Amino acid sequence: MRQNKAMAPSIPTNAKAAGPDASRSTSASRLLTLVHHNRQLSRASLTRLTGLNRSTISVLISHLTAQQLVVESAPVGGSQVGRPSPQVSPHPGLVALAVNPEIDAVTIGLVGLGGRVIKKIRYSTGRIPTAAEAVNIAAAVIDGMRGELEANYRVVGAGIAVPGLVTSADGTVRYAPHLGWDSEPLADMFAGLTGYPAFVANDASLAAEAEMVFGAGTGIKNLVYLNGGASGIGGGIISEGRLLAGASGYAGELGHTFVRSDGLPCHCGSRGCLETEVRQAPLVELLKLATDDPSAIGPALCASTDPAVAAEVARQIGFLAIALRNVVNIFNPGAIVLDGFLAALHAAAPDALESAVRAQSMREPASQVLISPASLGTDLMMVGAAELAFAGFLADPVGYFGEQPAIS
Ligand SMILES: [Zn+2]
Repeated sequence: MRQNKAMAPSIPTNAKAAGPDASRSTSASRLLTLVHHNRQLSRASLTRLTGLNRSTISVLISHLTAQQLVVESAPVGGSQVGRPSPQVSPHPGLVALAVNPEIDAVTIGLVGLGGRVIKKIRYSTGRIPTAAEAVNIAAAVIDGMRGELEANYRVVGAGIAVPGLVTSADGTVRYAPHLGWDSEPLADMFAGLTGYPAFVANDASLAAEAEMVFGAGTGIKNLVYLNGGASGIGGGIISEGRLLAGASGYAGELGHTFVRSDGLPCHCGSRGCLETEVRQAPLVELLKLATDDPSAIGPALCASTDPAVAAEVARQIGFLAIALRNVVNIFNPGAIVLDGFLAALHAAAPDALESAVRAQSMREPASQVLISPASLGTDLMMVGAAELAFAGFLADPVGYFGEQPAIS
């Protein structure tokens, strides 16, 4: 099969070797990662950002162009000082598959280098899928795309974003309470059925990385992401540009931050967790919405004049502020990015939330934090899952496909 080459280990072995090859591999990785994150960069910008000299950049770009990893286009604009510089972009044929199982659907996406969502298919399941069903659905959708994939693309692998605790090292979902999954070797199941290497991680962690690279947190290296949905609150913490994983990859369960000493029991076994106090369901009910789509909740909250809605918003903002004060004091983030119905709560009363957080947090970290809504919308999880698959490729882009023929 054409993709078998890509099943080679994604560990950047070349980068660890000594000598000029290792240096070239490291430079190629750095250059392509910059092009990926920025979607397009001029030769001049690449020279400045990598610190490499112009002739080295020139040789490297020629090499990456020959490998069909980047494409170069004519300079844009003519107003800058000096000679216009050619633009370097990711090769449009380089893609990752993205999979996101949820309680009522499995979404499968095709994402280009540069975080560009090319295709997204949401397959409604009508009920909670088992792990085997979710993998079968994804494999069937990918089989339907196989002709197109083999003709037009080189697939680096698949990233799977799961709402649960995941051991990323072996791609096993340890526990996904809302899906009812327990110790499911998802990466192996997926690779066995599709032939593509697969990588699995927690959905909110991947969303945090996607927002840092392409969304509201662009350029911010310390960021905390919180997503509120029908099944609870997930989170991800980015520290110095890297996802904080913890000992086993379970870090970031911000939904289970303690916010109320006389709070309700939580499914995690504790009490008074953020996600038992700050919930989407009461908002949807009070607003009499027919849908629990978070994008409908924000405008409805902002338009509401019902005092009962205002009281519930104020109550939830009070508890959210307690959780965010802990986030500010513990992590000193440059940005807190709110998604789902948490973004809707923020939109309904931005001053109330921000002043409550600042009033309770230590002055210095509070003065530095920006609280903002997520910006990638419905593409977020696809972009985040694809990042997982792109990571191994970007670590050693030149060696990744071996001698596999490039796209004709
Ligand atoms: Zn809990």
